[in-house]
Amino acid sequence: MSLVIIGSIAFDTIETPFDRRERIVGGSCSYASLAASYFTDTKIVSVAGEDFPKEMIEAFNQKGIDTRGLVLTKGKTFFWEGRYGEDPNQRTTLKTEINVFRDFKPDLLPEYRKADIVFLGTIDPALQLDVLSQVENPKITAMDTIKLYIDKRHESLLEVIKKVDIFFGNDEEVKKITGESNLIKAGRNLLNLGPSFVVIKKGEHGVIIIENEFISGMLAHPCEDVVDPTGAGDSFAGGFLGYLDKVNSFEEKDIRKAAVYGSVMASFTIEDFGTDRLMSVTGSEIEQRYKEFKNLVSF
Ligand code: AMP
Repeated sequence: MSLVIIGSIAFDTIETPFDRRERIVGGSCSYASLAASYFTDTKIVSVAGEDFPKEMIEAFNQKGIDTRGLVLTKGKTFFWEGRYGEDPNQRTTLKTEINVFRDFKPDLLPEYRKADIVFLGTIDPALQLDVLSQVENPKITAMDTIKLYIDKRHESLLEVIKKVDIFFGNDEEVKKITGESNLIKAGRNLLNLGPSFVVIKKGEHGVIIIENEFISGMLAHPCEDVVDPTGAGDSFAGGFLGYLDKVNSFEEKDIRKAAVYGSVMASFTIEDFGTDRLMSVTGSEIEQRYKEFKNLVSF
């Protein structure tokens, strides 16, 4: 099987109550593809400027990520700046500069068009729709988004939601899209807009998966030192979809396991700034933490 991921490749400036990092590599596509790469053949579709470090692309390749769909062009790489408060679930976006994404019109390679799973990571919904229209017969399509696009691109966002199988969003986003303040009702309302699964990310509290027949929950790994929460959601989605692509099954039991692997990958991401921990984590560390999760949730 194979997984195609579209999303941002970015420079991020991140401030937490304890530290600050300027222009480190981030972006929804970077986090999701690194997390997925531990499970399956992962291909990315994105754009970066001439200021983007070539070593980073080599590092993606060393993780087995197919970067032929990453276009390098004149101009500046996407930039995002955010600040976290004492509560790592609360963040403020200070700046978003879309830069090279302004004129990005991807033309997918034939192998990309045959993807089994497509993840439309956080990016302008018009671009998500464009990529989706180029993939021929995917088994599963999934999407994520961010408040900016809920506010500013509502119509095209609803178009994407209508077409995907899985929607990933945090509780605030799911409530905002549906206008419903009860989270479970909001999740069910979202199902009525198109998707078969809604995965609601609740930061350090874990996720809730809502489907017509079942609701399931997964705790987040209990982490005492959250260094940088950026990319946790994208890493969750990458681990979740990477695992499903690997096992080629969408049964309930595998969806539950996928949620554990998603939580495992997110838990590594937040242990360090940017993508550093995702770059260094090993397969045996992932399996070890997966086992710890089993103890955490068994009763
Ligand atoms: P997450 O913490 O999982 O929501 O993802 C954070 C990542 O999303 C950061 O690395 C940002 O570069 C990226 N990001 C933030 N805003 C946007 C946006 N409007 N479009 C695409 N990517 C974004």
